[in-house]
Amino acid sequence: MLCVCEELTIEMLSKTYKVAIIETKPQILKLYGVPSRLWLSLYSIDTRILTFISQSTVPSYDYYIHIYDYSHFNSEKDIKLAIILHELAHIKYPDSAENDLADTEISCDMFVADKGYQVGLAKVLWMIDHLAESLSNEQLKDITIKRITSLNSILDHAG
Ligand SMILES: [Zn+2]
Repeated sequence: MLCVCEELTIEMLSKTYKVAIIETKPQILKLYGVPSRLWLSLYSIDTRILTFISQSTVPSYDYYIHIYDYSHFNSEKDIKLAIILHELAHIKYPDSAENDLADTEISCDMFVADKGYQVGLAKVLWMIDHLAESLSNEQLKDITIKRITSLNSILDHAG
């Protein structure tokens, strides 16, 4: 059964979308290559970064934002909004085989920064860097460093 934690109505590409935030623990662990729940606490992984967006499978919503644990996800507003805005930006910049993964991620990050959540985003990126390190995931590490570098370059220019 689908457990909707929160509903959002958002404007994107001059359309209105209904988005449901849902908890999907098993899929998220699989997608991120996390071995188990125990592993998360062993490596002190902040579960707020374990998120992804997908098209909805029911008519009442356009998209789902999958999260790991809603009460923790909801605990800090700047981090929560940075994550939600990044995922929503994927409606405009979807991950696809033709696009460079890092470029897509950076486009989504720039959308977050434009909305004023660059500080929340910076915290999120350091958490993802720690995840990549803990998983020994070189590709994730590489993409995250590129994302941190481009966020730093706009923070530097903001003075
Ligand atoms: Zn992304």
